[in-house]
Amino acid sequence: MGTSSDLVRALNERIHELSSGVAEHDCVCECGDEHCVQVLRLTAGEYHALRSDPMVFAVVPGHDEDVGAAIARTDRYVFVRSALPNALNAPGVS
Ligand SMILES: [Zn+2]
Repeated sequence: MGTSSDLVRALNERIHELSSGVAEHDCVCECGDEHCVQVLRLTAGEYHALRSDPMVFAVVPGHDEDVGAAIARTDRYVFVRSALPNALNAPGVS
């Protein structure tokens, strides 16, 4: 699950880079399900808030239950704090 989330997060970083200067952009759901292809809409400010804590993931509403504790919830997204220790800082060995 961690690996899939890492890939999605890298993809979201890329989308964010390509969207620099726009007010809001799509983000791929970070629920960790490799079959999940849903997207959610984040403003630039929301995205920066999300990325300020590496243990927080953005998922579409309803996908948060297996990820961790919801810390913010709107119609568009849920921010979830994962219980996985340091998952995102692990070296990407496969
Ligand atoms: Zn999902």
